Amino acid sequence: MPELPEVETMVRGLRGVLPGRSLRRLEVRDPSLLQGCTATSLVRRMRGAKVAGVSRRGKWVVVELEDNRGLIVIQPRMTGGFWLIEPARPEHIRLAFHLDKPEATVWYCDARRLGKVSWYRDAEAAEIAFCRSQGPDALQIDREDLAERLARTSRGIKPTLMDQKVLAGIGNIYADETLHRTGLHPERPSSSLSLDEIARLHSAIGEVLARAIELEGSSFDAGYRTVLGLEGGFLAQNSVYGREHQPCPSCAGPIRKIRIAGLIGRPTYYCAVCQVIPTRISRPR
Ligand SMILES: [Zn+2]
Repeated sequence: MPELPEVETMVRGLRGVLPGRSLRRLEVRDPSLLQGCTATSLVRRMRGAKVAGVSRRGKWVVVELEDNRGLIVIQPRMTGGFWLIEPARPEHIRLAFHLDKPEATVWYCDARRLGKVSWYRDAEAAEIAFCRSQGPDALQIDREDLAERLARTSRGIKPTLMDQKVLAGIGNIYADETLHRTGLHPERPSSSLSLDEIARLHSAIGEVLARAIELEGSSFDAGYRTVLGLEGGFLAQNSVYGREHQPCPSCAGPIRKIRIAGLIGRPTYYCAVCQVIPTRISRPR
């Protein structure tokens, strides 16, 4: 599932081609992804529109148009992604941005069709919609805000970090990596973290995400690819995710794989030596 680094990589790829270009035609191949607009109205609005810029909010890709034509927001969710080259699986194309002068096409593909495409009148309307469903972006949240949000819940720290209403952008892989870097057990109750631990966690979030963006994200199956169809490089250099039985890069202790409450179907990896729950603190129920 694309998390913040994968979505940021998509946005950086799109920035190389979309801004300043005009849309000859937006082709909606699968209207079921549209939310709050019809294919006819979206296609009409986009005809001849010029792209002002491409940005990211949490796991949202935001394509802003010039001349009050609004913004298109694409949420890749589980299996969405953009292609600047001919997509490997053309049957998964859901949207196509046909550009003018010179002619080119950017494709949005989505195998499981769980992504969402919406249109907003202006940046303010998009911001309101974002804030209604998501917390601050994981790369922008400040330490005090993070501390306040963690103090409010005794849920385990891992599911809390993955809760998009707490902070937006972190999923299973980067939650595990961030907690390993901080030396925190994934089931530590969020509200039991000391200010010092929160400060280290806050730094680790920024460091892990920045490193993952540098390596163009994580590919572990047929899912995420860069806009050029390449695999992300993060999982070749990471510390714990997908590394059960391997030695921890910090202490050489064993990396364990467990299932924790609230994260059905998503395994958790942690170091059994450097990520322990202090004995005075009990696990959340
Ligand atoms: Zn360790």
